[in-house]
Amino acid sequence: MSDLLFPTDTSSQIYLDANATTPVLPCIAEVVSHTMQICFGNPSSSHITGIQAKHLLEQTRQKARDVIGAQQGDILFTSGATEGIQTAVVSTLIAAKNHTIKNPVLLYGATEHKAVPNTLIHWNSVLGINAKVLAIPVSNDGLLDLEFIAEHARNALMICTMAVNNETGVYQDLTAIEAVIRSHNADVAWMVDCVQALGKTALALSDTSIDYAPFSGHKLYAPKGIGVLYIRQGSAYTPFIAGGGQESGMRSGTENLPGIAGLNKLFSLLLDKANDTFKSLDVLHSYREQLQHALVDTFGSLTFNHDFDLSVPTTLNFSVDELSSKEVMDLFDAAGIRISGGSACSSGASRSFVLDAMGVSDWRSENAIRLSFGPATTQAEITTACTRIRSLKPILQANCLMVSDSSLPLQEVCALGLTQFRHQGACCWLYVSQNKHAVIIDPIVELIPRLEKIVHTQNLTVAAILDTHAHQERCAATALLAQALKFSFADTDQLGWPISQDRIELSECTIERIATPGHSEDSVSYLLKCNDSHQVRFCFCGDLLLPAGLGNTAIDGGNALVMAHSLRQLSQCLDNSTVICSGHDYQQCFAINWQVQQQQTPLLKALLTNEITDAEFSQQKHHSDECNLSKFATLCGYADSLQHSTAYEVNAVQAKEMLILADVHLIDTREPYEHGANDISQQLAITPDRVMNIPLSRMANALVDGQLNAQNKYILLCRSGNRSKQAATNLSQLGFTQVYNLSGGMALL
Ligand code: PLP
Repeated sequence: MSDLLFPTDTSSQIYLDANATTPVLPCIAEVVSHTMQICFGNPSSSHITGIQAKHLLEQTRQKARDVIGAQQGDILFTSGATEGIQTAVVSTLIAAKNHTIKNPVLLYGATEHKAVPNTLIHWNSVLGINAKVLAIPVSNDGLLDLEFIAEHARNALMICTMAVNNETGVYQDLTAIEAVIRSHNADVAWMVDCVQALGKTALALSDTSIDYAPFSGHKLYAPKGIGVLYIRQGSAYTPFIAGGGQESGMRSGTENLPGIAGLNKLFSLLLDKANDTFKSLDVLHSYREQLQHALVDTFGSLTFNHDFDLSVPTTLNFSVDELSSKEVMDLFDAAGIRISGGSACSSGASRSFVLDAMGVSDWRSENAIRLSFGPATTQAEITTACTRIRSLKPILQANCLMVSDSSLPLQEVCALGLTQFRHQGACCWLYVSQNKHAVIIDPIVELIPRLEKIVHTQNLTVAAILDTHAHQERCAATALLAQALKFSFADTDQLGWPISQDRIELSECTIERIATPGHSEDSVSYLLKCNDSHQVRFCFCGDLLLPAGLGNTAIDGGNALVMAHSLRQLSQCLDNSTVICSGHDYQQCFAINWQVQQQQTPLLKALLTNEITDAEFSQQKHHSDECNLSKFATLCGYADSLQHSTAYEVNAVQAKEMLILADVHLIDTREPYEHGANDISQQLAITPDRVMNIPLSRMANALVDGQLNAQNKYILLCRSGNRSKQAATNLSQLGFTQVYNLSGGMALL
């Protein structure tokens, strides 16, 4: 097989992302291949090969009519639904150019695929129609607001709705929508995006007044790049692609005959009632039920974001109450189950506009997971999917992601030492000592459920909850966390320090504090000292220092001169190897030690080497904070850009070659719950002792616990190569010179 093709083995993958795309069924691939090699003619040619191709084309068109119930009207072959949508919108808007409506509107459902509003906005502007593009709101169930349609239909040039939603599977009541549209506007162009309906609900388009209905092959086991557009008889039409006059001049360009042959086979399967490739609705409902039970058994507290009674059975959209969508997706991916966060079609979106339109909570929208299967899914695939999902439960429990059932033996402590938790640019730190005493520093409200779960699951005794200062940019989480953990704050100062003590004793270490004002008047730093060596292992400095930067002094209580004094004081206490644990890490540095911190922060270095006086430091710092203030929204600190990484990129072949040598170690930078879901040493045929699991959240800990040696060679990997790249960059900045990132990560292994 060509090295351009990967992965070579998909047999171990469970694909549950059918709403994004589907694999081509073998019997469909067969006819596609046959059409490419044997029946490859151009339907416009007049010789026999061409006539055969033309026959295939027209036969497919007739089958399309039978499948979607459209004996009248036109059926065009397009490159997919997006082209169908363009064609419908352009045809309508060109016909509407000379409209006489006073305040024209273009209506689309608020949960429509982005292809629809973006197409409306684009052509409305390009064609100078200047209509108002309005989203039709939906109810909490995702159903279109019929009153809104009734109110605006009279002024509408076009109304775009969808049959089935791609994120939630919610289907619309097209009969009710038609009734309201037509009772207010008999002529308005109505497009119904039917992409997710094909094969999942019955369609009889000619019995309706729908003007345009786009379909897409790749959502139902046909290849990508082929689709169908239905156009009602008499509806406005302007060719979107002009040229050689194919498709009766309605859509030029030599037809994609292999794709059309694929549709031909797909339609035959849909029409053949005796063929059981596509399962009945009853069977699909039973699949959904099995998956639902597996999810509930595994995650316990989760919420389904749609009403199953109003949705096609092939889509489950849910949010796990205390896990981010990224965590759930990484976990599923590690277990070989492919799912999607919200909508794979709108990549880059961090929350779901569909769920937002349905009014679900921020958490559920930001952390929605979509699991979707196709109608050709087999019971065996669903059984394996459910077994794999259930196999995640012990991994979730072992990694403090959920509270163990009391019947299970107590899990091992997974968080001994220091763990970093992040929310946006802010950092919170949890230190767990050998005797399971926990100190939490700079808690963040959004992380309270996670911290609570860890403390309870691991039976930790909370020794202290500390703030490095009263944070100005976020509301105090300390009191809320203490309440959640039933931790009493009696006899502590405002930052959580026990008033009567000058140190907090933990089994193997001691925490001391020094006042380090500058970013604010009340700022302190906590120094975690090893009882044996007396070395300061970690310095929790809040926003006095940020990786490669210094805290902002241009905020209330900030004072650059005082900061200079604090920095000098602090430098007396730290070793070069002390790991600096800041309150913020906007640059995604993850771990930095005192030596590198000084090297990478020129102003700090200049101060500590006495190149500049405190007054000069103050002047320069004040000036740069004022400049930064005008450039950025107030941040808690400003960092210089970190030095370039010297980490190398290697591909899978190079990595495997390197791993033959015994002195090369592998660092899996995924979280422990992902690491635990598959055996990476077996996959790469190396002994388990050469594999370390150091997620970004434990990078700071790894620097001090002796696992890493700057002289060693390390290959870093994660799921996609992004996190491992950050970790490799981090290690190279810390002086590790032989660090290699596996580009593309496990996805390309
Ligand atoms: N409409 C819906 C509901 C979809 O799910 C998709 C898929 O991405 C599209 C339109 C776009 O389809 P295509 O990929 O064929 O352009």
